[in-house]
Amino acid sequence: MASSPPLATTTVGSLPKPDWLAEPEKLWAAWRLDGAALQSAKERAALEWLRAQEEAGIDIVGDGEQFRIHFVHGFLERLDGIDWTRKTRMGIRNNRYEAEVPTVTGPLARPAPVHAADAAFMRRSTTRRLKVTLPGPMTICDTLADGHYGRRADMAMRFAELLNAEARDLEAAGADVIQFDEPAFNVFLEEVRDWGLPALERAMQGLKATTVVHICYGYGIEANIQWKDTLGDAWRQYETIFPWINASSVQQVSLEFAGSRVPHEVLRLLPDKDLLVGAIEVLPGKLETPEEVAANILAASRHADSARLLPCTNCGMAPLPAALARGKLQALGAGAALARAKLGRG
Ligand code: ZN
Repeated sequence: MASSPPLATTTVGSLPKPDWLAEPEKLWAAWRLDGAALQSAKERAALEWLRAQEEAGIDIVGDGEQFRIHFVHGFLERLDGIDWTRKTRMGIRNNRYEAEVPTVTGPLARPAPVHAADAAFMRRSTTRRLKVTLPGPMTICDTLADGHYGRRADMAMRFAELLNAEARDLEAAGADVIQFDEPAFNVFLEEVRDWGLPALERAMQGLKATTVVHICYGYGIEANIQWKDTLGDAWRQYETIFPWINASSVQQVSLEFAGSRVPHEVLRLLPDKDLLVGAIEVLPGKLETPEEVAANILAASRHADSARLLPCTNCGMAPLPAALARGKLQALGAGAALARAKLGRG
């Protein structure tokens, strides 16, 4: 991260879609346009969020996932081997919520790059470090039904190969940072060690871009809020998986930290990684002050050298009202500046 400032700021990725692009505050909201009009609307939305990130002082920027309908299905919808008309109703994240998901019915293939042209558009539009996000193999396997491979581990490894090819294309298009989203890592624990992490490392294999895994407790939606209530006073999932991740080739770990019941000491389990520490909550209705953001960063710095910290959001902000997400970006940038001054890293 030689070219980034101390406490370089970034976000997990997704930002709300404007209401002229898709229905706001809703996951999987259908597009309001199609064809060439849709593509130019996506570009306009991505540029608006890019400028909002730049104005807020976010150092490592992205497209806010304005080009994809959902953080997982945006990648899947351009692959061969998935039948989108054969919907299976399936419990997701160990039955936390149910969704109608498409079904894998044959060998998976990626006939062409999925997000590379959009990444190239972003590269032309900013001089800042550019992050592009992809769903991780385990989370993909937990978001669609398998009618072909038989074992989730086998299907995950096939997705990992396709993701690696996609990541190489994103790198060639100018992505500096490639982040894989693996919320499923906090749910399946032992399977992370057995096949989730090996598949993730396969997806990252040989990349020159900085590699990140994002592991969280989910969007601030009702099903996740209810699930969190069942997890007790101290959320221990990270304690199980972080030692495995610290021993892996993953370079950076994005984790939930602000306002959650994650014990702060878990940061000590990743001594060899850069940490995208969640300094902003993604619950609806709360706007942090810069002072609160700085306090979160300072709390993290008591457990990890601040040279390894990148202040971030806890999760994606897609389901939030756009004005609130914009305010959170500004609080993140201002809070990181305060923390830099306090830590003498300004
Ligand atoms: Zn997340």
